[in-house]
Amino acid sequence: MKKKKVIDDIYIPDVGSQVETIDGKEYLITNDAMYTFFRRTKGEFSAFFLALKNEKRLLGCKCTKCGIVRVPPFLTHCPDCNFAPTEMIEVEQVGIMNSTPPITYFATSLFQHMAPYGRGRVIFKGADTAMSINLYTTTGILVPGIITKGTEVKLIFRDERIGEMTDVFCVPTAELTQEKITKNGLQESEIDWETPQEPLLPIASEEESNQYRKALDEMKDLIEDMNRNESARKAIAGWKRDIQIKTRGGQFAIRIDDGDITLTESVVSSPDFIMVCDDIHTLLDGLAYRGAITDSVINKKIWISKNMEFNTIFKLDRMARFLVRSKKV
Ligand SMILES: [Zn+2]
Repeated sequence: MKKKKVIDDIYIPDVGSQVETIDGKEYLITNDAMYTFFRRTKGEFSAFFLALKNEKRLLGCKCTKCGIVRVPPFLTHCPDCNFAPTEMIEVEQVGIMNSTPPITYFATSLFQHMAPYGRGRVIFKGADTAMSINLYTTTGILVPGIITKGTEVKLIFRDERIGEMTDVFCVPTAELTQEKITKNGLQESEIDWETPQEPLLPIASEEESNQYRKALDEMKDLIEDMNRNESARKAIAGWKRDIQIKTRGGQFAIRIDDGDITLTESVVSSPDFIMVCDDIHTLLDGLAYRGAITDSVINKKIWISKNMEFNTIFKLDRMARFLVRSKKV
């Protein structure tokens, strides 16, 4: 396996040059770099990060005088007790949300690989203070309402840990078996991410079926239009996904294949992810650039089976935008 670098390859430009024309004059531009790397010590808090990394334990500091337990252990001496020393103790790996976490869907490049994620504060059993942590769900896309203030959550350890706060995250205990809730040092690979709860759709009336047929024909035309449009194709360059789409009137598949996009009335045997969209018009409107598909996902009108596929939804929105813009020119 290739070793991971501090700066990901995708952020490193190729050696090369280009010509930019400004006011009729040509200027040569070359790619260059200016960089600094540094090493950072965790100092007195090394024990906390080493426990996360090597032992999959969560440590706090307990004041030897008043007994308050702070997690993470950010104080070596208690300011409430005339700076009495604190001692490291282990706390439990189940806790309660202290607040309703906001969800980040559109992250900066540094955090893009983790989005969408919730970020909230958890009071673990045995602790008196709340710890900031990233939150996920195994039930599909993370949307408001799944994790709120008071939700019980479980600490999960990444399979690959380097001794950072991102070595851990939380999921609701309601999504885990009792055995997994009790187990200390539970890792992400021990959790079932592959059986999200797909929303059930009601059976369509005859009128709704007719509406579906009509909307599907419109969508076919639109997808063909996208497939022929150079600008729209750029939005899915290098991207490959088979998406099974289920709506009230029926189901179909959209295939994205490095610039190509096709719609077929078929059932894919192993799609990359499933999209459930009760009213087909919600998706049709998004593809036609009448409102964003990402908004419909956040507003729970469209459900997707894999959280990280929000990225693909984002690309579909870009296709819609690029298609409309290219026609205006
Ligand atoms: Zn104290």
